[in-house]
Amino acid sequence: MTATTSGETCVDCQETVASLTIRSRRLCASCFIRYVSSKILKRMESYRFRNLAGDQKRRLFLPISGGVSSLVLLQLLDSQLQRQIGNRNRTAYDLVIARVVLPDTSGLATIDSEYQKLAQRFPLHNFLPLVSLHEVLQLDAGMRQDLTLLGIDDESGESEEECMQRILSSAMSVTARADLQSILLRRLLVSLAKQQNCETVLWGHSDSRLAAIALADVAKGRGGSVSSHIADGRSLHGINFNYPARDLFKVELQTYAQALDEPLTYATEGDATDQPTTSIRNTSIDNLLSSYITSQGEKYPSIMANVVRTASKLQTQKEGNGVVPCTFCIMPTTGTGDDSADSLILCYGCTRMKQEIRG
Ligand SMILES: [Zn+2]
Ligand SMILES: [Zn+2]
Repeated sequence: MTATTSGETCVDCQETVASLTIRSRRLCASCFIRYVSSKILKRMESYRFRNLAGDQKRRLFLPISGGVSSLVLLQLLDSQLQRQIGNRNRTAYDLVIARVVLPDTSGLATIDSEYQKLAQRFPLHNFLPLVSLHEVLQLDAGMRQDLTLLGIDDESGESEEECMQRILSSAMSVTARADLQSILLRRLLVSLAKQQNCETVLWGHSDSRLAAIALADVAKGRGGSVSSHIADGRSLHGINFNYPARDLFKVELQTYAQALDEPLTYATEGDATDQPTTSIRNTSIDNLLSSYITSQGEKYPSIMANVVRTASKLQTQKEGNGVVPCTFCIMPTTGTGDDSADSLILCYGCTRMKQEIRG
């Protein structure tokens, strides 16, 4: 994806001078914006007016991470809803926006002011106050109990914040810590979405991110849950998951953010996928694969797209077909769940993670 100054005409509108090369096609900025917009809105079809009964209005939950993908998703859905207001004076759905602050995050004041600015730029939507990861201990009723399955017991007299620090520092490897944190994060977001009566969580993940997740899941012994992890539709969490940006590469979302009349500013700091890998020892499998795909995947976009397409085609295990969700990560367990008499069961991935946790 390169910008040039040559005088070629855009292949879509045949009028304007092309400024971008997208998947080997020369496009002008406005045709590129339309391209990204149509890819995402096509994935939002089921939330249109025609799928609503009477005055019904849906509530959709959009977690933003500070990275480019969820921000682009917010901007695009905002313009869709603005158009709906212009045409019908109402919207087909409400957006509830949340942002989680992870432990050891520096620059909380900056995050807070960025978040405030975002809420001002997109005033149509319901921005929840910033949430800390440790709030999962309170919002997810089963969390403390489920942690004991990993050998992490409650300790009296500590604050939730201290408890979360202890939980994360009980992981003996960077990969186990990242794995644990991402499960806690997902459970926190799902709890918040349910608390807000949202029917769906809209994840901002790009194709590149989904490919990294699929490969990392396999590497972590979570291959059995790949298809459930990246599928659109009802999740075992009891809420819908939807990935509207799944047909776009991260670099395309970055280009889009810059091509807008009012460009989107996003932090690349904290976005580990953009940082060079300094030491393998200090890198989790997730970050390693993310940076590999960001640096190499661009050169082989069709292979990356295939990773996601193939992984999605693996049989998705749905609740009710005798599938027992893992008590901790809420992903399908692959075995028959022989010792599931008390319905507390860990999947293979969580069992492996547990081996790297000192209780
Ligand atoms: Zn054009
Ligand atoms: Zn599990």
